[in-house]
Amino acid sequence: MSLYTKLVSNILFPLHENLKKHSTVSVRDQMEKTQWLTADKIKQQQIERLQQFLEDIGQNVPYYRDLFKEKGFDPQAIQSLKDLQQLPITGKPEIRANSDALKAGDAVGLARFNTGGSSGEPLIFYIGNKRVSHDVAAKWRATRWWDVNIGDPEIVVWGSPIELGSQDRVRQIRDTLFRTELLPAFEMSSEKLDGFIRIIRAKRPKMLFGYPSALAHIAGYAEEQGISMNDLGIKVAFVTSERLYDHQREKIEAVFGCPVANGYGGRDAGFIAHQCPAGGMHITSEDIIVEIVDKKGNVLPEGESGEIVVTHMATRDFPFVRYPTGDIGTLSSESCSCGRGLPLLKEIQGRTTDFVIAKDGTILHGLALIYVLRDLPGVASFKIIQESLDLTRVLILCDDQYCESSEETIRQEFKKRLGNDVEISVEQVDEIPKEKSGKFRYVVSRV
Ligand SMILES: [Zn+2]
Repeated sequence: MSLYTKLVSNILFPLHENLKKHSTVSVRDQMEKTQWLTADKIKQQQIERLQQFLEDIGQNVPYYRDLFKEKGFDPQAIQSLKDLQQLPITGKPEIRANSDALKAGDAVGLARFNTGGSSGEPLIFYIGNKRVSHDVAAKWRATRWWDVNIGDPEIVVWGSPIELGSQDRVRQIRDTLFRTELLPAFEMSSEKLDGFIRIIRAKRPKMLFGYPSALAHIAGYAEEQGISMNDLGIKVAFVTSERLYDHQREKIEAVFGCPVANGYGGRDAGFIAHQCPAGGMHITSEDIIVEIVDKKGNVLPEGESGEIVVTHMATRDFPFVRYPTGDIGTLSSESCSCGRGLPLLKEIQGRTTDFVIAKDGTILHGLALIYVLRDLPGVASFKIIQESLDLTRVLILCDDQYCESSEETIRQEFKKRLGNDVEISVEQVDEIPKEKSGKFRYVVSRV
């Protein structure tokens, strides 16, 4: 660790967090220890923590005070994590309808956020000091798994308008001190990309952080231009917020000469899980309980895939209890060779909207369609939009190798998967539109 990094991670950042009344440093210290506990011990602590959390919100949050009374639910009586199932799944519609009653009477430092633009289901919610501390601590711990600390030079490729909106002067000074540089992922013109590459080369970051699509795009561009990026000493590329595809991982690893660490979480649901160098996707289970549920909301056993539902136990100021994330995943019963007792998410198969539905009702992962286009000569970039069971649109950015027969192939292959009488509209475009958040999605289903 460099002297400067030591100064930031041991003195400046702790001071900054203290001023903001965040307990980030002590939470991280604690998490550094608890990650090595056995899985059983971690589960036992989760039950105690859950009990305290539910007792707290039952006393201080009007919505839960009423709900517990109505259901005759007693947090003191909790014996196992299964008891959580006595409480209802509480998603965006419920949170939207009870936004005021969900604020704790004694909440500290509530800040307003919104999310969910890409799923077409926006949500306004609140985050208190405690929660910020825990989410920042969890991320900090995860970067340390990769030998990167706060204060090490970092490039962030990000597109969320919310994050960019808070780019005020204070934040700029802070970013400079902590050696973080933000590159906006909205525009990826070749002019911009040239600039990004210059900045990355000059900064020699220890860590890249961003959407997999954005980092893979920069990597691909550098490769095309014959600019080598694997000599900068980058230790890891943290990716999050989108599904990570194998071809993106390969491209980023090859060009930047560093491993890719996949992360899973969101502003709303929290820092849910992160990959360690041994490959395990460890859940932040000190704070977060993950359940996998089927379409009816019934909890599924380990190994079965369903929607990821989280309870975030540091959210007493504005609780997220059994909050469905809209992502499909599987819990693993295996343990990781790194020795950490934190349980594992086996697989995140993407958002529920990454799936398409064939005319006969069969649910297909978007990959079934993506593969058709990826192997096709002449297709530089694409986006698939399933508008209805009868109509799927394919937006294509093509190069000179594209021809009439390519279009016919797309139609045939898509019909094979979606149904013979489905209309497949192939549209050549000059630019593939991104989601409002700046994220990129290959497949969007509106069915
Ligand atoms: Zn591990």
